[in-house]
Amino acid sequence: YPQNCVEFSAGHLLHRLYVLQQTYLHISTESMAQVAEEFELPVSQVASVVDFYAFFYQKPVGRYHMLLSNCTSCGYQTDQHNLLEMICRLLNVKPEITRPDGRVSVGETSCIGMCDHGAAMLINGVPLVGLNAEKLAHITHLISENQPLSCWPMEWFRVENNIHKQDVLLNEHIQPGSSLKKALAGDSQRLLDIILHSGLRGRGGAGFDTGRKWQLCREAEGKAHYVVCNADEGEPGTFKDRVLLQSYADALFEGMALCAYVIGARKGFVYLRGEYRYLLNHLQNILKRRYEQSLLGPSILGKAEFSFDIEIVVGAGAYICGEESALIESMEGRPGIPRIRPPFPVTHGYLGQPTAVNNVETLIAAAYVAYHGSDWFKAMGTEQSTGSKILSVSGDCRTPGIYEYTYGISVQQVLSDCGAKNAQAVQIGGPAGALVAKKDFSRQISFEDLSTGGSFLIFGAHRDLLSVNQNFARFFAHESCGFCTPCRVGTRLLESSFQKIADGRATRQDIQEIKQLSALVRRYSHCGLGHTAANHILDGLKDFSDIFEEKLVQTPFTPSINLDAALEDARQITRRDDADAHLE
Ligand code: SF4
Repeated sequence: YPQNCVEFSAGHLLHRLYVLQQTYLHISTESMAQVAEEFELPVSQVASVVDFYAFFYQKPVGRYHMLLSNCTSCGYQTDQHNLLEMICRLLNVKPEITRPDGRVSVGETSCIGMCDHGAAMLINGVPLVGLNAEKLAHITHLISENQPLSCWPMEWFRVENNIHKQDVLLNEHIQPGSSLKKALAGDSQRLLDIILHSGLRGRGGAGFDTGRKWQLCREAEGKAHYVVCNADEGEPGTFKDRVLLQSYADALFEGMALCAYVIGARKGFVYLRGEYRYLLNHLQNILKRRYEQSLLGPSILGKAEFSFDIEIVVGAGAYICGEESALIESMEGRPGIPRIRPPFPVTHGYLGQPTAVNNVETLIAAAYVAYHGSDWFKAMGTEQSTGSKILSVSGDCRTPGIYEYTYGISVQQVLSDCGAKNAQAVQIGGPAGALVAKKDFSRQISFEDLSTGGSFLIFGAHRDLLSVNQNFARFFAHESCGFCTPCRVGTRLLESSFQKIADGRATRQDIQEIKQLSALVRRYSHCGLGHTAANHILDGLKDFSDIFEEKLVQTPFTPSINLDAALEDARQITRRDDADAHLE
């Protein structure tokens, strides 16, 4: 049964606020002042944190608080929009407004990582999967009876792994401690050399060399060094970390300890996305066992000079915290706004100290490399992409779930394996990744070609790609942290442009403006979210221009003013007349 109130360190600001949220169903101004005093922080900082994270509320939510995932992928097996309308109608509640009796509230949220389970929601923070009309009617009845979640059908909360294809990582469970034993038999330089020679690259999509990252961190000067596991996967269509955390957490903690050994860290953190809070008890139990086995804590495996502790920090619903510097800000108890880089976390990370941030899959792969050796790892994959990649496959296919391949696999092969017979396109790497059209299905999953964090979202021939694009545009507008203008304003404008197209009010001029705006958001935004927010639009316009064309109003539109000329005064004041100071 789900547990929605788990014991964990209340010493972290996010955790303290979570407890208040659970207790009072909101965080009041008085609570913020109280927390500010406890943490010796300005009230404004606490207020900015409450304001920033989607899972904190300043007005009370219902005792049953439901957030339906509005991810494109999860909704494919049902009509999400209808489900939201239906549950609101059945419960006599309006979206985002708590029912006057305080019993229930309903809202939407971005992908909750259940894309292989059909339509899904978080209820009081716990995933409830496989939603349909019948289940919603049953839920309404249980709520009217005031039944606690522990009395609801257990199978509603059962989250399966759905592993359909295993390769090197998923096939084998190394015994807890076996990689560490091997590594600690030699010195840390030897382990670093193994990781360097393996060619292991970050599995989040950017593909930075893992050994190089550890080396830079090890060489950076600081009072302390830190290991951080980024378990904040939030890319719509991604759910592999859910499975890895559920069934391969030992290897993850082993990988973190190995990283600590190389960089000289005594402390590590797992930053767990708020949507996966239900895994917290399970992870803490594994941590507890590892302490008992001397695989964590002081003098690991009897090696007096190697001590390492791991703590879990749980996020609160902010996609941007998947960006490593935003994640560190969040760990330090602030809104997850990306830092200006350089300096990079390897030299100035958590508390300004050298920090190695790696994602879940990378750290697990490191544990396997340490056990089997670099040659074993290098023998798989392609020249620049060694080893394997775990894909989260969802959308229009017979068997959505987890598929692991050595790098270099073609898109077409993945489609065949998961039973996607009639795909017109695949979104690889989430909305920030690449939209791959049928003509390009021979392309390969690899850093040389299609780099991905793991999301593999399939669109059948019957799918309306325009509404998919619109959903993605809404996602970025919602998840922009608001720090920089090009992204904050640009993503909103792109969202409204899509609404205009969908409403049949757009002209060719709007398409031109979307292209210009997309280029501007990509070029001038502060962090990766903004840099990639328009990828899906530009890909869509390149390969599927007809779906946009069909919706356009076929009357020529002539702007009533010349916008570029209107900027002339501004150019003179700023003494700029370069190409970027012009709209064309
Ligand atoms: Fe925030 Fe977007 Fe700017 Fe990144 S690009 S800092 S998400 S507003």
